[in-house]
Amino acid sequence: SQYSEYTNEQIHTMDKAHVWHHLTPAAAAEKGMPLYVKGEGLHLWDADDNCYLDASAGGVWVTNVGYGRKAIVDAISEQLMELNYFAGSMASKPAAVFASRLLEKMPGMGKVFYSSSGSEANEKAFKMVRQISHKKYDGKKRKILYRERDYHGTTIAALSATGQSQRRDHFGPFVPDFVEFPHCFEYRSQFGDVEDYGIKAAQLMEEVILQEGPDTVGGVIIEPITAGGGVILPPEGYMAEIQRICRKYDILLIVDEVVCGLGRTGAWFGYQHYGIQPDIVTMAKGVASGYAAISCTVTTDAVYQMLQEDNGDKLGFFRDISTYGGCLAGPAAALANLNIIEEEGLIANCAHLGEVLLQGLHALKEKYPMIGDVRGKGLFCGIELVLNRETKEPVDEAVAIQIVNACKEAGLLIGRTNRSFETFNNILNMSPALCITAEQIEDILNILDRVFAKVTL
Ligand code: PLP
Repeated sequence: SQYSEYTNEQIHTMDKAHVWHHLTPAAAAEKGMPLYVKGEGLHLWDADDNCYLDASAGGVWVTNVGYGRKAIVDAISEQLMELNYFAGSMASKPAAVFASRLLEKMPGMGKVFYSSSGSEANEKAFKMVRQISHKKYDGKKRKILYRERDYHGTTIAALSATGQSQRRDHFGPFVPDFVEFPHCFEYRSQFGDVEDYGIKAAQLMEEVILQEGPDTVGGVIIEPITAGGGVILPPEGYMAEIQRICRKYDILLIVDEVVCGLGRTGAWFGYQHYGIQPDIVTMAKGVASGYAAISCTVTTDAVYQMLQEDNGDKLGFFRDISTYGGCLAGPAAALANLNIIEEEGLIANCAHLGEVLLQGLHALKEKYPMIGDVRGKGLFCGIELVLNRETKEPVDEAVAIQIVNACKEAGLLIGRTNRSFETFNNILNMSPALCITAEQIEDILNILDRVFAKVTL
């Protein structure tokens, strides 16, 4: 390989000297970051040959079909040998075939716009709303509403649409005309224990629309299940009410499926559990499971048409481009990834074994009072840790760190919400690859049981 002349020690030395790790303070980097060298299915090996069961899908909900998928690697390499690149304004076999196959899974949607990260896919959606506001509404209907606790990405506009203050601190001022509305987190309900929490929570969005003026609001963006903000599922009736309100005021509904898309929740897309029809859907991570950098902004034909009309401004197209939206490795990998999900029945496996995992986590909740809440859909689960079930006071971050580290020592990788921040740091998450087996689910639950038995508060 290109690296065979280097020892692991040299790699660590070069890493410490030259690589700036994401979200990592210098002191942590100085201790040395894990060096993973091989993956197969759900297993990862580090340079010391320790083997881990990865229940985090590559740390950030990415590797939906698991590691070591030769079919995807072959599809990429064949495509790149034939033709690696031409700008996204040309036609290509992989882009055309993947788009048509993807749209088969998304009834009601009509066009796919390619780019290369989740943040970028959301930026495209925001730009669509803004360009439509200029074409149809004299630039007035341009505000975008986003929800408290949702994350939509790291670029400045995506961060301007992110409802997590701890991620935003130090980066203001933000892009104007992004407006926050309250979350829909039933476990920490704003209204106490009410029957129709979902409807009430959605109406908090309507209040914000009315305060801002409906003729100034062009779009609403939501995660179908809030991921980084704490694995928060929409309560009963919530999504339908959000859609009803958007339609009432002629507001485009953007669903951010960057985490939930491509099977993670036991359906092709998270929104499909809730019977809604978005105007724009964004996706990234599971689109190619980490084998290539690709994201998509998928719209209805109606949204596409609004941007094609030449209504005097001569701009009868969406004025946007992404250099790597034209790299053919992306859709080639995505097509092979989609074929695997389909041929191996991974959506059904995810729905079925996700339920088994969730039931197992509920059983752990019965056993350990520190588990305040367990929630999830498909292979996407969260465990909220509390000091006291009545007050729901969160445990200290150190407790969550202790659990994640103890799991790792026992050979299991799980996720933790918003590392190194002050809030929501008491939520553990799990999102194993969709090809997980029943035995591996049992292994995860057994390790968690042993770890929880030893946690010290
Ligand atoms: N949207 C959601 C819901 C995410 O969780 C993320 C990343 O974690 C993003 C958008 C941003 O994606 P990316 O890191 O590929 O830009």
